[in-house]
Amino acid sequence: MAHAIVVAIALGFALVVPAYSQMPLPMPDPPATEFPPAIPAIEAPPPPDPSAVDPPPIATDARLAGDDQQTRLVIDLSRKIDMRAFALADPYRVVIELPQVDFQLPPSAGERGRGIIKAFRYGLVMAGQSRIVVDLTGPVRVKKAFVLDSADGQPARMVLDLVAVDRETFLRAAAIDNHLPRPPYPPAQADEGRERAAHGDREEQRADPRPVVVLDPGHGGIDPGTRAPGGELEKDLVLEFASMLRTKLEATGKYRVMMTRTDDTFVELSERVRFARQQRAQLLISIHCDALAKGEGEAEGATVYTLSDKASDAEAQRLADAENRADIIAGVDLAAEPDEIADILIDLAQRETRAFSAQFARNVVKEMRAAARLHKRPQKSAGFRVLKAPDVPSVLIELGYVSNPRDLKYLISESWRSRAGDAIAHAVNSYFATRVAGRGAGARAQ
Ligand SMILES: [Zn+2]
Repeated sequence: MAHAIVVAIALGFALVVPAYSQMPLPMPDPPATEFPPAIPAIEAPPPPDPSAVDPPPIATDARLAGDDQQTRLVIDLSRKIDMRAFALADPYRVVIELPQVDFQLPPSAGERGRGIIKAFRYGLVMAGQSRIVVDLTGPVRVKKAFVLDSADGQPARMVLDLVAVDRETFLRAAAIDNHLPRPPYPPAQADEGRERAAHGDREEQRADPRPVVVLDPGHGGIDPGTRAPGGELEKDLVLEFASMLRTKLEATGKYRVMMTRTDDTFVELSERVRFARQQRAQLLISIHCDALAKGEGEAEGATVYTLSDKASDAEAQRLADAENRADIIAGVDLAAEPDEIADILIDLAQRETRAFSAQFARNVVKEMRAAARLHKRPQKSAGFRVLKAPDVPSVLIELGYVSNPRDLKYLISESWRSRAGDAIAHAVNSYFATRVAGRGAGARAQ
């Protein structure tokens, strides 16, 4: 368990700084440090020169061992140093952060891979900080990452053990993200310059500090969602609604609004979650319409859903099952069961996010009560996959029932849609007003 947490922290850090993927790794610089001149040993040694007291450790050799299930990278070092390793996806790689290292490896080191490791690159990223980037053949878990002190005539050795895992396991582990504290590293370098470099292409986000709101029109492409008796498709209705809501939110000037799809294309549920996390969204609003088959009774009005392991009632469960079917329709198999430990960690990370999600859901219900028709029980919860980002407060709004003639009339009416859109925009405004005042998770993402 403890070990799993350590790995999760390392993985978590990875998603905090996705900018690494775009960052070219500089080639190793020639050593800049001058060693003190040799002094005849008989004389009393001169006082140490403070600029040369601590020359960077030297990496002298590198070796790979193992197979395509488990691979080890070993680097020989002139002395023990601290290290931190974390995995990134798309493309799969592991980044090892080190204090400044003088790489004197054989010229071809890193060019040829073995097992899970395709190749590796190394170099100085800035004064005081070096990095090794290990390119992988697939998703991995960082099983071990440590530096052994020199002993028995052996040099100090940096050891990285990687184990092949499936993508789902990888993403779940990575999903722990920034809810767990980042280890401070390296202490002397944790300054503004390092922050800038680490965030790289997040310059745009720095330049525009407004919170990101992701709108998620459900379904799309080969997955039409529910279908009204008159032939209207959920995927079209929700795309129109989300586009209208986007315009309203952008008109406030307070948010950067992004959409998981802007046309009739299919997007996997996990991809929608990933998109929101990549954009460091502070709110995800998934838009859907429901339908009841003949004989399932009558229902009407909008409902706001948040995530829970246990559905709040049978209808919520039915709906979550129906919405989660989106990926099956498109032939995407997400059936892989997460392991128990990952589940526990995600649950911990999600606690705060769930509180924020519930707060926003209450705002939406309050605002829509006046502007639109609400279901008789308008706030519910169930296991919707699209709401599973552990660090993005997320709600799913079912605007109404296309199977209900009056709801459908509203859903295709410009004026109703505009009223409902205004209500949701108001809910977003009061949500962020509260969060800024209370310095909630909003502060975290800055
Ligand atoms: Zn739907």
